[in-house]
Amino acid sequence: MSDDPREPPTGDHLQRVLLEAANARCVVVHLDRVLAEVLARGPYPPAVAGLLGEALVVTALCSSGLKFEGRISLQLRSGSALSLLMADCTDDGGLRGLARFDAKALAAGSAGSVDLRRLAAGGTLTMTLEPSDRGQTYQGIVPLLGSGMAEAMEAYFRQSEQLETRIRVIVRDGAAAGILLQKLPGEAPDPDGWNRLGRLLDTVSVDELQATDSATLLHRLFHEEPRRLFPARPLAFHCPCSRERVMAVLRSLGEAELTDILESRGEVDVDCQFCNENYAFDRLDLEQLIRNDAPEVPDGGSIH
Ligand SMILES: [Zn+2]
Repeated sequence: MSDDPREPPTGDHLQRVLLEAANARCVVVHLDRVLAEVLARGPYPPAVAGLLGEALVVTALCSSGLKFEGRISLQLRSGSALSLLMADCTDDGGLRGLARFDAKALAAGSAGSVDLRRLAAGGTLTMTLEPSDRGQTYQGIVPLLGSGMAEAMEAYFRQSEQLETRIRVIVRDGAAAGILLQKLPGEAPDPDGWNRLGRLLDTVSVDELQATDSATLLHRLFHEEPRRLFPARPLAFHCPCSRERVMAVLRSLGEAELTDILESRGEVDVDCQFCNENYAFDRLDLEQLIRNDAPEVPDGGSIH
């Protein structure tokens, strides 16, 4: 496959290359509209917006390793100023994310540079792989390490997957970009390959990462390496919530609790925390749910 960058990919996208001699993969992600759409659902202070951008980029980078139809989610939870940072990405490039924070604690600790170890002190990082056919879910949890999401994910891969990984991320001026270099399981034909790739990655500045399209950057870095370049794939904001999923969750509460809600409140309002979509159920809807004659949804259990 040619990686002649005459027609560079544009817009939000992901591109990956397999580097055969070193038995490694490299992935580049650029986000523009997705970042704007996620941040528009804020408001987020700059420190949180930056980390949310980093989380979106690293989640998209990691999604390229999905070997099934489904999604990958990243969750950072802590008892500190940044209590929750979440992003997920489907195998076909649907991305979303959100953050929860304590504005007062954030303002109190905002002196100096943004450091994840301070904003989410004592936090844990969880990565979940969920096949869409409801097959076996895989989850890895590690203590949070590193000053940003790139370092935190490098530590995750080292501890949880024993995969050597290098990640660089830049979030600036309303756009975000990232590059991931990861050793794949198994022997590499060239024992020095990994070190050589690392030295090549060291030559990429964050300015170059942000300003250069993925095909040009991957060509610049690896044109002397035996490689397989895959076509760029588009990424877009997508939230899979739906009225049917919310109904399935309500139905799972059971007849007694639904009757109680109907008698005490008469209606239910559910907001999707990712996309702010509102789902309202009035008395008639609730009565229908209690009679259990609303259409069945096979994929129940979560509104997301
Ligand atoms: Zn939603």
